[in-house]
This record gives sequence, structure tokens and C-alpha cells, in this order.
Amino acid sequence: MPIKDNLIKIKESIPSHVTLVAVSKTKPLEDIMEAYEAGQRIFGENKIQEMTQKWEKLPKDIQWHMIGHIQRNKVKYMAEYVSLIHGVDSLKLLTEINKQAKKYDRVIPCLLQIHIAEETTKFGFDASELEHIITPSTLAQLTHVKIVGLMGMATFTQDTQQIRKEFKHLRSLYEKAKNKLPYISILSMGMSGDYKIAIEEGSSMIRVGSSIFGARNYH
Ligand SMILES: *Cc1c(COP(=O)(O)O)cnc(C)c1O
Repeated sequence: MPIKDNLIKIKESIPSHVTLVAVSKTKPLEDIMEAYEAGQRIFGENKIQEMTQKWEKLPKDIQWHMIGHIQRNKVKYMAEYVSLIHGVDSLKLLTEINKQAKKYDRVIPCLLQIHIAEETTKFGFDASELEHIITPSTLAQLTHVKIVGLMGMATFTQDTQQIRKEFKHLRSLYEKAKNKLPYISILSMGMSGDYKIAIEEGSSMIRVGSSIFGARNYH
């Protein structure tokens, strides 16, 4: 199905309070423009260099979300324009984002990535690290970043009970974080294969790639 139809179908099937991030990694500018012309304005990329090239060439009312793992030495390339960073997984990284945001006189919204999957390859904080990072004294020093929520990825499995359990866990950590930081409002969880479960478990932002743009080709 054409990108436009996929997009409309997904939009119609999700509640209006859930934000759709169209994950356009590896996809050409034409595909992004097709989604743009169908009204989509939020796009997600997982490589800073690729995202920056697309930002330079595409309409400036697109909001670019960084959803992938981030190397600290590359933060400077996106600090000018990135609208939300999903994958913040260390205090060092947060400190670097703060430093680069300051240069552009911006406050960059960030999500803390939480490790909820069984796989050890997925990045993120665990529950106790999260407790330690969201203290008023830590956050007070970071004048140019704003923590606006949490993000997580479930295990890549067909076992929907397992996925649901992991999303429930993330939701409970989100509620706990919200007790400390009442202004947080984003829970980013759910991808093409599991966004329906994620929404049932309280997601407010889904990151969907292949269900919109088709399978990715990495060669
Ligand atoms: C690629 C990616 C997605 C989208 O994956 P699909 O299965 O294609 O929807 C979502 N989140 C992250 C962090 C990703 O890297």
C-alpha cells in the first residue's frame, strides 16, 4: 500500500492523545515527502548524520526526533534543530546535550531511555539508576535540557504476554517518575509490531517505521 494510505490507516486506528512518530530511517526524501503531504510532521531517525542531511533538505516545519543510540561527539550536529531526543541513557550524554543546547540558546526536550527488554543489547537505565538521575540537584544543573518523559523498547518476540509485561513495567516507572517530576507527559513506547499493546498499556507516543514506509533494506 502507498505510504499515504498506511499512514491514514494507522492514524485512524490510534486515539487522538497518542502522538505518531513516523520512523523514516534509511528511507529516501521522496518517501518522507509523501508522508509529509499526507499531513505527517513528526519524523524519527536513528543516525544523527542521516537526520541532519534530511533536515537540511526538507521543509523546516518538520519536527525531527532522534530515536537511536547517541554518540556524545555527534550531539553537536543536531543541537540546532532536534525537537526531541528519545534515547538518553547516561548522565554524561545529558550533560553533553545541555552543553550543546546552550550554544544555540535552546532547551532541548529529552526522554530517558529505560531498559525493559530481556535482551542485554538494548540500552537504557534500570529502575534504580532512574531514581538517582531524577533528583532535583542533578536536574537543576542542566539548565538547557528538559526531561519530558521516558522511552523504552520491548523484547523482540512473538510472546505478547512478555511484551505486555515489559510495557506495564515501563508504565509503572513512568508513574513513579511523574510523582517526582509532575510536568513530564510523554511515554514513548510501541513500534510497528507492538504499538497496539503499548497503547493499551498507556503509551502516549509510538514510533512506527515499517508499517508506514515498508520493510527497510540495509544494503
Ligand atoms: C527502527 C525503530 C523503530 C521503528 O521500528 P518499526 O518496527 O519499523 O516500526 C522504533 N523505535 C526505534 C528506537 C527504532 O530504532
